[in-house]
Amino acid sequence: MAAQETVEHKYVYDFAEGNKDLKDLLGGKGANLAEMTNLGLPVPPGFTITTEACKAYLTTGREPDGLAGQIEAHLESLERAMGRRLGDPDDPLLVSVRSGAKFSMPGMMETVLNVGLNDRSVVGLSNQAGGNDRFAWDSYRRLIQMFGKTVCEVPGEEFEHALDEAKRAKGTQNDLDLDADDLRGLVDAYKQIFAKHTGREFPQEPREQLDLAIRAVFDSWNAERAILYRRQERIPADLGTAVNVVSMVFGNLGPDSGTGVAFTRDPGSGAQGIYGDYLANAQGEDVVAGIRNTVPLQELEQLDKTSYDQLLGIMARLEEHYKDLCDIEFTIERGKLWMLQTRVGKRTAAAAFVIAGQLVDEGLIDLDEALHRVNGAQLAQLMFPRFQLDHEFQPVAKGIGASPGAASGRVVFTSARAVELAAEGEAVILVRRETNPDDLNGMIAAKGILTSRGGKTSHAAVVARGMGKTCVSGADELEVNVPAKTFTVGGHTVGEGDVVSIDGTTGKVYLGEVPVMPSEVVQYFEGELDPETTDDPLVRAVHRIMTHADAARRLRVRTNADTGADAARARRFGAEGIGLCRTEHMFLGDRRELVERLILASGERERDDALAALLPLQRADFVEIFREMDGLPVTVRLIDPPLHEFLPPLEQLAVNVAVAQERGEDVAKEEALLSAVRRMHEENPMLGLRGVRLGLVIPGLFAMQVRAIAEAAVAVVRDGGRACPEIMVPLVGAVQELETVRAEAEKIIAEVVGDSGVEVLIGTMIEVPRAALTAGQIAEAAEFFSFGTNDLTQMGWGFSRDDVEGAFFWRYLELGIFGISPFESIDTDGVGRLVRIAAEEGRAARPGLKLGVCGEHGGDPESVHFFHSVGLDYVSCSPFRVPVARLEAGRAAISTTGSDSR
Ligand code: PEP
Ligand code: MG
Repeated sequence: MAAQETVEHKYVYDFAEGNKDLKDLLGGKGANLAEMTNLGLPVPPGFTITTEACKAYLTTGREPDGLAGQIEAHLESLERAMGRRLGDPDDPLLVSVRSGAKFSMPGMMETVLNVGLNDRSVVGLSNQAGGNDRFAWDSYRRLIQMFGKTVCEVPGEEFEHALDEAKRAKGTQNDLDLDADDLRGLVDAYKQIFAKHTGREFPQEPREQLDLAIRAVFDSWNAERAILYRRQERIPADLGTAVNVVSMVFGNLGPDSGTGVAFTRDPGSGAQGIYGDYLANAQGEDVVAGIRNTVPLQELEQLDKTSYDQLLGIMARLEEHYKDLCDIEFTIERGKLWMLQTRVGKRTAAAAFVIAGQLVDEGLIDLDEALHRVNGAQLAQLMFPRFQLDHEFQPVAKGIGASPGAASGRVVFTSARAVELAAEGEAVILVRRETNPDDLNGMIAAKGILTSRGGKTSHAAVVARGMGKTCVSGADELEVNVPAKTFTVGGHTVGEGDVVSIDGTTGKVYLGEVPVMPSEVVQYFEGELDPETTDDPLVRAVHRIMTHADAARRLRVRTNADTGADAARARRFGAEGIGLCRTEHMFLGDRRELVERLILASGERERDDALAALLPLQRADFVEIFREMDGLPVTVRLIDPPLHEFLPPLEQLAVNVAVAQERGEDVAKEEALLSAVRRMHEENPMLGLRGVRLGLVIPGLFAMQVRAIAEAAVAVVRDGGRACPEIMVPLVGAVQELETVRAEAEKIIAEVVGDSGVEVLIGTMIEVPRAALTAGQIAEAAEFFSFGTNDLTQMGWGFSRDDVEGAFFWRYLELGIFGISPFESIDTDGVGRLVRIAAEEGRAARPGLKLGVCGEHGGDPESVHFFHSVGLDYVSCSPFRVPVARLEAGRAAISTTGSDSR
């Protein structure tokens, strides 16, 4: 027997056996309960069933061998520790059964409380509670309700109706007015509902209750809302959840009991202090659901000073131990404090930076760790504008600033309507009394969320913060009437479709649309706020961490810019060059006419005239950009899109010609244009005559651009400035294409630069799969490669970048074929492999070959880490993403050297 036990897989861990680093196995909640237990903090005894047990169950559809016996053994030792047996009629042990995955998924999975109660032990519970019958029957009805709903899929509204009915019969609206007899009657009603829906009686056997509840928690990993949440938060689908079985402690045993949640610092701003909500005489779920309004935690000092002081001591200890902001859930049962949960707390983007800076000041972490604890997505959020308020805008209500940002939009009251209107392109604000996990779709679709109930830790607040979505919660002046689709506030009635504005930082709610103003972080990057003298803690923290990121990173960061203004802004944001100057926009506006002349040219002479007219204009464009970049490298890409993009659309032209003919007007010019457009029409223009192909077909076009670039550089240098041009050829698939362009370009460059000292590099985009696969050959003719991952993704997958997002990506995301659009974050396995091959083979052929990326992925946080790992020299992205790329490049550097773990 003993030998058999040693080979059996271990699926159950007592809290004393785990620790905070076992999150993969015990989930976040279980690992942290174990850690607190081992720190000697008052945690109710319990045990954790591992994620491995869950995964085995989800794969095979049954509990793995040995699990039942291990649960039995741990239950027995729990019973011994508590001196009570599960469901004992005279003195019952009750347990909660709680989910707990590696990554927090608030409210997404199931919990069942009060397991162990039945028709007999309810009496024992009443005795334990000093003859408090009301409490015992209330606990029992909660069990049937939770168990029925989560374990047996009984529709929750049926229980709600029965509760409303009991209150109506009693002539009250408040649950607390129901006495023991009313609740006993409610238990009967609940049992009937249970039997009607399940075809069986409510299980009286405590162990059966426990086993079914555990199974329901396992199953809840694959509940629709959990799947949706994981997709949104990019949590892998195969982790499974652990299950925690914890002895119940009760916060609803009278005024000397209660429950609360707390943060060791403000999760909104990062400010130091004690932040939390407390609710006397209530169960934990009441706080999280935001069903009753809480009081600030500080008021606990008056109610129960001993517990308050003990709690503050524990919070300080936890911060010191975790070296980070912790959030906790606790319960006080008749004056005794119990810790029910802790974890490193979620926080807003601003708080993440501020706290990381404070912890460095306090000596708890170093700068590498501070950099590790923030990310580019948070920085991007902080670069959003905020409301611009003057006296004209008076708030009509003030709730809790639950998740920062500024959002205006049309009011909707249901998740379904939010989804509908958002699909039509409307900005919507989802208004609810409180949200619950079923509102997830609507929350994703909405620009912002406004609730009339609930604190900073309500469902709406927690989920919105996680999504980075603006949220105001607990705006209790709002009377929300969902069936009537209205809310009233301060004498105003607001209906569906009316516009409101909400400020997730201050919690204020405005009627109508409020204009917005820029973020202080952007002002800092723009150089308008001095980080040394400002008293804004966020700006100081951002500056400090960015400075460290810049010192740590190996990747350079350039920008995609094709105007002097964009180039200038990008430099202020820290760009170290231009990685992609697209020249095509320079052919629009009043230059269209010259391009038409070029395309319609009937002979060499006309074409050369058109090119000669374009040359000085292009030269002026490049002078402006070189001046702005002042000697930093500027990669100018020769024209890429098909020429017909510069001509009017075929249909419009055909109609114009027909109408003009009808009127008897002279249409010779339009007809020529029409026939050119017809001639150039392509079924698949993105795979047609564009890029280098165009340069090889239209004589003189690339040559004109090369000359303009070289002349502009020489002009700037002769003027005392600096210029460092890099000419980039688009859409190359074969080295011969590049060689042909290069031969012509080199001649022109030699002729133009003379002895000016200007050096011009010639390189290529790698954006056609064949180019990636023949990179060794192409490198012979290229001084640099820049990966065009937009086209490489398009051509690597074989789908059109312009059409597919709306056509089928939603389905691919739903099916999990994509975790995220491959246009947003690089597909490392496929397209990334092409990048890797090209980088390796290119460098093998030409050591020191300069490598960069200029597709949209250059500013995507995850992709930046990939490009770092492949060994690129730089990423290039739009000006606004430059700070994000700098930060992530720094983070990538410290995570590969391993110094982040101190
Ligand atoms: C690319 O293809 O990634 C690229 C940068 O070029 P464009 O987006 O202009 O095609
Ligand atoms: Mg491209």
